[in-house]
Amino acid sequence: MPREYACTLARMSIVVQKYGGTSVADADRIKAVAARAVATQKVGKDVVVVVSAMGKSTDELITLASEVTDNSHPREMDMLLTAGERISMALVAMAIEDHGVGSMSLTGSQAGILTTVEHGHAEIIGIRGDRVREGLNEGKIVIVAGFQGFSPETRDVTTLGRGGSDATAVALAATLDAEVCEIYTDVDGVFTADPRVVPGARKLEDVSFEEMLEMAAAGAGVLMARSVEFGRRYNIPIHVRSSFHGGPGTWVKEETMEEAIIRGVAHDASEAKVTVHGVPDQPGLAAQLFDPLAQAGISVDMIVQNVSLQGVTDISFTVPRSDLDMAQKVSESTAAEIGAAGVDVDHNIAKVSLVGAGMKDELGIAAKMFRILAEHGVNIEMISTSPIRISCVVRGDDVGAAVRGVHDGFSLGDDQESAENG
Ligand code: ADP
Ligand code: ASP
Ligand code: MG
Repeated sequence: MPREYACTLARMSIVVQKYGGTSVADADRIKAVAARAVATQKVGKDVVVVVSAMGKSTDELITLASEVTDNSHPREMDMLLTAGERISMALVAMAIEDHGVGSMSLTGSQAGILTTVEHGHAEIIGIRGDRVREGLNEGKIVIVAGFQGFSPETRDVTTLGRGGSDATAVALAATLDAEVCEIYTDVDGVFTADPRVVPGARKLEDVSFEEMLEMAAAGAGVLMARSVEFGRRYNIPIHVRSSFHGGPGTWVKEETMEEAIIRGVAHDASEAKVTVHGVPDQPGLAAQLFDPLAQAGISVDMIVQNVSLQGVTDISFTVPRSDLDMAQKVSESTAAEIGAAGVDVDHNIAKVSLVGAGMKDELGIAAKMFRILAEHGVNIEMISTSPIRISCVVRGDDVGAAVRGVHDGFSLGDDQESAENG
């Protein structure tokens, strides 16, 4: 996003508040959002609210489309899905006006959110934001529909991918030079693991952009990874907090107070595995296999190539489960071309990741993670690492045991912390 937009809109005390689906799920929740936005304005802030669609309505619209058609209609799908956020933005604006405070809702294109052309996973390339600024100058609370934008190239409405309202909010906060982007959600902050899977997970006071980016990319859906990238690039502090009470949440920012070796465990059960058997072990064949997948817009995550036996090898990789059918088709066609033996797919996998900036300087973390998984009877099928992350692909059925085991084994929870401190 070009920085010049941020300069033209620079103001001192803008707060961007983003409310997720649960936080605008019904009339009472919408009134609560309005009350919080008005209270924030009353303490002297300019307030921009970014909303998601109500409750599970994005899922419901996707189901409805699948009942109407078996084919993919990317442009119309984005038209359909952007309707969800349009409903909540108008209702929140009405509820704010009922407090006697001026308000105005804007679609993504009215707010000037410019994106690339890819329907369903467009990227924000710039934000004009002049109507947002006009609204603020008139003393209004401006409501912007999350998750949507507009491609100047095709002049069509686009969506940013699931969870994309987070990206709308942080990108808007960067454009407006806001003091903070608050992400209101249905948990109290960012935890050491998904609190719905690990009941003893501990809320983090703060987490660095670098660690949060790894956690989000590894499946911690509390923030969309792209929103954390915007936060890091433009140094916008992100405060993830509950919309159900006023208590503090978790600050995602440049520096953290507490140096930790391990920050948390993330898991992702949304991928599937493809294995191409009997690939001739010759230079160039891996490129021949992965080029067509990239051309089909499929993002490949982990890749493992087995040792070669009698001149052939097996190559396995993971892809988003939603792209599995396409990945299988593309791989089967390449397998036939390169003389590989065949293609298998596996739906029942999950990825468990350990994240922490301190692991860079610490020996034995990976070995400890593998030992803990073994002690819990969990088999590791693939491994990948970054300087601050270790990820293991395991059986899908084992994911709960694996996350809880690793979380306990590294003493990340409340009990362990207080036991250690006490
Ligand atoms: P919203 O609709 O508010 O955007 P999401 O469902 O996208 O909410 O994100 C919040 C959810 O993220 C939580 O309900 C929780 O189950 C999940 N989650 C996954 N990992 C974590 C984590 N490390 N900390 C907190 N929540 C997490
Ligand atoms: N409504 C969209 C979704 O469900 C975007 C969002 O909630 O952030 O993915
Ligand atoms: Mg979300």
